Amino acid sequence: METPQELNEKTHKRTSQDYRETLKQMKPNIYINGEKIGRDDERLDGAINIISLTFDKIDDPEFKDLLSVESHIDGIGRINRFTHIHQTVDDLLKKQELTRRICRYAGGCILRCMGIDAMNGLSIVTHRAEAMTGRPYNERWQKYLKNFQKNNVVGCCAQTDVKGDRSLRPHQQADPDLYLRVIEHRDDGIVVRGAKNHITVAAVAEEIIVTPTRFLTPEEDEYAVAFAIPADWDKVYLVTRVENVRKRDYTPCPYAEHGDVENFIIFDDTFIPNERVFLGGYEGEHQFGGWLALLFALYHRHSYTGCKAASTDIKMGFAALVSEYNGVEDKKHVQSKLASMISNAELVNAAGIAAAHKATKDESGTMIPDPVFCNVGRKHAGLNFYHEAELLADLAGGLPATLPYEKDFFDEKIGPFLQKYIKRKADVPAENVYKLFRTISDALCSSLGGVVAVAGVHGGGSPAMEDIAILKQYDIDERKKIAKYLAGISDDSS
Ligand SMILES: Cc1cc2nc3c(=O)[nH]c(=O)nc-3n(C[C@H](O)[C@H](O)[C@H](O)COP(=O)(O)OP(=O)(O)OC[C@H]3O[C@@H](n4cnc5c(N)ncnc54)[C@H](O)[C@@H]3O)c2cc1C
Repeated sequence: METPQELNEKTHKRTSQDYRETLKQMKPNIYINGEKIGRDDERLDGAINIISLTFDKIDDPEFKDLLSVESHIDGIGRINRFTHIHQTVDDLLKKQELTRRICRYAGGCILRCMGIDAMNGLSIVTHRAEAMTGRPYNERWQKYLKNFQKNNVVGCCAQTDVKGDRSLRPHQQADPDLYLRVIEHRDDGIVVRGAKNHITVAAVAEEIIVTPTRFLTPEEDEYAVAFAIPADWDKVYLVTRVENVRKRDYTPCPYAEHGDVENFIIFDDTFIPNERVFLGGYEGEHQFGGWLALLFALYHRHSYTGCKAASTDIKMGFAALVSEYNGVEDKKHVQSKLASMISNAELVNAAGIAAAHKATKDESGTMIPDPVFCNVGRKHAGLNFYHEAELLADLAGGLPATLPYEKDFFDEKIGPFLQKYIKRKADVPAENVYKLFRTISDALCSSLGGVVAVAGVHGGGSPAMEDIAILKQYDIDERKKIAKYLAGISDDSS
């Protein structure tokens, strides 16, 4: 048995290299464009490089007390915050601050918040479900959490079902498998069938944490299922789409080292042993499924108040620098566009800070951020995502879309012409101009940039879901009373 100090040491010492080694040892169950591949395939490197930041920055002074935190569980010691269950307002504030800072290094999504957002939701729902059903869901989850924290495990969250006809509920679909469900209860576990789509990171995660996708009705207990399995589990197939930017030969840079993996996950009558089942789809459990769906979304939208502020920081940085190189940074319309980006970043960030300060403590001990602030912050970020890209496209001009290839820019014959004619302000070297436009081009004009933009709208739930969450929790009647008071209408008349 390891002492707390030894465990502590081990957590800190698990490096990105260890994480990479673990991936290499996993069974190949990834299907990519007609091939079955292992996790050593270099197309996955972009996403692995991003996750690696969450290990590599642990001792960086900028991330002191942000990336590492004391576990609330006795004997575990310091852990990576991407495995932490928020106990205080300060935890929520630091999670948001960590997310904003580390996403700047990733050049976008850090890819590791989905897993821990699902774990925070499970901390609450398994606690309630155990108290109300007597099934040891929280006891199992607590054991799972200890391992998750001690081994600094990389998890993802598989929430989004394929959903079939959107106008129909899960139990009304022509094919009942269009939402993941339990098809058999056994003494030693459950068997599940279905598929989850759009699951970021799964191919480079060690664990897949599965939650329901929506509120469920009493006819839908079989869909109230939550569990966690290693990502290479038997009868689980990952159909993976990879986005990396075009390879660089002459101008390597951090942005070009990073990428994304999205996954369509198929559960082919998959057995899940009891110790990994956190909601088993038994009679009466539909209510817990719904709560879990909402709570994952809530924690994820709080994470968005950090990552989307970072995404604006990045676009704003590109916009300001390109304007400086072009010699127009002080022009009125440029300043106004930069101010608009600053407003977006800081309002979204402020909503996350407010959500943390207005958080409530659940009986399980976990802090729940304020739902209205989380959702208005996420909504504001989503509404402005494409608009910020438009502002950057405006300020950068057309060159991100038409930039000559690197080999031409550095070619012996053609290169000197391009280096002469790409120049903006005389004191900015042509190579810097090229590097900046190449990176803006990757952000705005690549397939990665396109995927990131759609994620900016739909990640954490489509915009209508944010409206529903906001309207459900907001006191509109109170506002009607104000209107009646001001208009001199008596309070008890309609
Ligand atoms: C890049 C990316 C990464 C993602 N990562 C993850 C992840 O890691 N894990 C995860 O679980 N999910 C993830 N998602 C999924 C994301 O949460 C969903 O895309 C989002 O919830 C929308 O679901 P959908 O894609 O099925 O679209 P749909 O639900 O089909 O929505 C399309 C439109 O139809 C509307 N609509 C749908 N149903 C109804 C209805 N009943 N009534 C009225 N209007 C309706 C929606 O409001 C929307 O306008 C990711 C998505 C993207 C794009």
